[in-house]
Amino acid sequence: MNSVRFISNTLAKKHSNGRFHPESPQRIEMIENWVSSQLGDDISFEISDKLASKDDILSVHTEDHHDLIEKTKNYDGHFYFDGDTAANSYSYEAAMQAVQIGIQAVFESTRNSSIFCLVRPPGHHATQHTPQGFCIFNNIAVGSQIALNKKKYQRIAILDFDHHFGNGTAYINESNPNILYISTHADPRISYPGCGFSDEIGFGEGRGFNIPIPLGYRASEADLEISFDSIINPIIYQFKPDFLAISAGFDAYERDPIGVLGVTVDGFRHIGKMIKKITDNLNIPYAHFLEGGYNINLLPELVSAYIDPFIGKEDFKEKINPSLQIKEETKTTIQNSKRVLKDYWSL
Ligand SMILES: [Zn+2]
Repeated sequence: MNSVRFISNTLAKKHSNGRFHPESPQRIEMIENWVSSQLGDDISFEISDKLASKDDILSVHTEDHHDLIEKTKNYDGHFYFDGDTAANSYSYEAAMQAVQIGIQAVFESTRNSSIFCLVRPPGHHATQHTPQGFCIFNNIAVGSQIALNKKKYQRIAILDFDHHFGNGTAYINESNPNILYISTHADPRISYPGCGFSDEIGFGEGRGFNIPIPLGYRASEADLEISFDSIINPIIYQFKPDFLAISAGFDAYERDPIGVLGVTVDGFRHIGKMIKKITDNLNIPYAHFLEGGYNINLLPELVSAYIDPFIGKEDFKEKINPSLQIKEETKTTIQNSKRVLKDYWSL
């Protein structure tokens, strides 16, 4: 029996980016309500108030970054780091809790029981020195780096299917050959954060270990499937990670209010299946980190579809909707990736 442990932070719904912001407390509330209605042998829910330590944060972030966020504890109202990322007086501790749950997820997830970090704020845009893109600290990068530092794992793959390129995760790990970062995301020419082109493959020893896969307008699970078959699976099987950390964002959904991609509800089930197959074939533990996803009403359905394969609800034979065509731009992206990565991986 496979199970998923959802863990949320007590301050997840207290952190705020300001009124009418898409990254709202209701996101957690909606998913939490759904999880509460599903409790059983295969789905559980916990809530944690444990804080990461400052040293944990410094494993990937600068001291200035940490201290800036800490100071917002005493700020009255919203402190804006940029036009769309803010903190209120709860945000510092909410972010420290989110990081702590991320660390717990990497250390406690097993092959049969994965942890889903049901946390706010999300993390994958936060760089070494900057909160940005609705993110304060990089939950997945901190958890992964601490697991490597403590020799819990030797090689970690981070797979990010959020609509947006996880520039924070990419920059933090761009010189690190022990963390493979693979992201599918909307083409940077039409989407935040404006980077994540096919040739941004890392530096120095980490060159070849950052794999951006930009997808065109309205790209769907058909485009994700060919990306997995052509690029993601071959590279992950050659890298042979001993842990898979998943940046699970749900803004690639076709009716997301801020997204431009076209993944259907069933598409998220298909993404879950493709990822589950990787972890089964490699026989490795894995954990899920909530990133984006802004269609508040549909969010529980998207999370549910994605989680189904991890609790044994789907078999792997089911095909995607044949009316979804692979975009020309995706074929170009795959050609570009094969060209720039040919010295590092056989594709
Ligand atoms: Zn996103």
